Amino acid sequence: MEPDGLEVLAPKPLRDALGWPELARLGFGAQRPEHAIPIGLEGDWLDRFGALLGEDGRWSERQLSGGAAAPGDPQRILEHALDLPNAVWRLQGETATFTRCLLLAFRYTALSDEKREGLVWLGFNLGTGAVIDDIAGRLRRLLAQDADWQAPDAEVRAAARPGWDGATLPSRVRPLLDSRVKSELEPFLRAMRRRLERDRNRVHGYHDDLRRISLKRLAALTGATGEKAEADRRRETMRITAIEREYRAKLDDLRRNYALRVTVDWVQALEIYVPVQRFDVLIKRRKGERLIRIDWHPLARAIEPLLCEAGLGLDRPRFVCDDKLHLVAPAGQAPCLSCGKAFCRACHPAACPRCGGAVEGGMAC
Ligand SMILES: [Zn+2]
Ligand SMILES: [Zn+2]
Repeated sequence: MEPDGLEVLAPKPLRDALGWPELARLGFGAQRPEHAIPIGLEGDWLDRFGALLGEDGRWSERQLSGGAAAPGDPQRILEHALDLPNAVWRLQGETATFTRCLLLAFRYTALSDEKREGLVWLGFNLGTGAVIDDIAGRLRRLLAQDADWQAPDAEVRAAARPGWDGATLPSRVRPLLDSRVKSELEPFLRAMRRRLERDRNRVHGYHDDLRRISLKRLAALTGATGEKAEADRRRETMRITAIEREYRAKLDDLRRNYALRVTVDWVQALEIYVPVQRFDVLIKRRKGERLIRIDWHPLARAIEPLLCEAGLGLDRPRFVCDDKLHLVAPAGQAPCLSCGKAFCRACHPAACPRCGGAVEGGMAC
C-alpha cells in the first residue's frame, strides 16, 4: 500500500505475539497509510520480533570441506609456530582429520553519558584448545559464501569428538572476553575521560574564581571592627561555604553522569567442523614429556597458535611448567607479587603455592 505500507493477514500465533488484528495495516515510513500501525526501529518492535524468533538461531553447527592439500614442510611450519624458550619439541606424526571449532558472538553495551554497542567474536579449536580468532574470522567468511550450508556428517562429527566440558568453557572464555571487550571500548573510554576532564576543569575553574573573590574580600576585612565589618565577614564566610557545597554537588552530578555500566551478553554460538592437518608434537622439559596437538587449517591456509593454559596467549611464546608441563603465556609463570617466587598459574590458578598470595586480577596477561 502507498505510501510505505503493508496489509497483513496474520495467523493467530502471530496476532497473539504482536498484538495485531487478523487484518493488520502496517506503516513503515514517515508518511503512513490511513489507520496503519507504525513500525520502526524505535519502540519495542525489535524486541517483539526478537521474541518471535525465541532461541532459534542461537546455536548452529555446520561442516566446511575442501581446502588446500597438506602443507609441504611440516617441520618448517612448526618452527615458525612454536616458540618454547624453556623446552624442546619433536614432531611425532601428522594426520589429516576433522576438528570442531567453536565460534561465540557476544554483544557488549557500554552506557555512560553516551552509549556504545558492538559485537565481539571469539574462536576456539575444541580439538586442540587453541584460540583461533584470526582463523575463525576466515572460516566465518567462507561459511557466509557457502550458499548450501552442510550439516556435519556422522563420521566427521565422530572424528571431531570430544569437545570441552562445562567447566573448561567459562574458564577459557571469560578472560579472553574481558580483554577483547576492554580493547574494543578503549577509544570510547578515552573520549569519555576527555569529556569528563573538560567538564571537571570547567566546574572547578568557575567555583575556584568565585571562592577566590570571596577570600579576597574576607582578607580585606582583616582588622576591621564594628557591626558592619562583622556582618560583612559573616556574609562572605557563608558565601564561601555555599560555593564549596555547590562545587561538591556539581562533582556528584558529574560522577553520576559519567558513571559507566558495561553489559556483555552471549548472542550466538556456531560450531564449525573443518578439515585439519593435525601435528602431534612431543614437548620435553627436564625429565617430563607431554604430547600435544597443533592444527594446520587448509581452509585458512594457516597454522593456529599453540594452546595457552593460563593467560590469554595472544603472543607466541609459551613457557612449560616443571610439574605438569602446562603451556602458559609468559605472565602465566611470572613471579608472585608478594614473595617473588615464579609459579605456574595453570597448576595454581588461585594463589601462590609458597606464600598463599592471591593471583593478580584472576589471570592478568
Ligand atoms: Zn608468593
Ligand atoms: Zn603447571
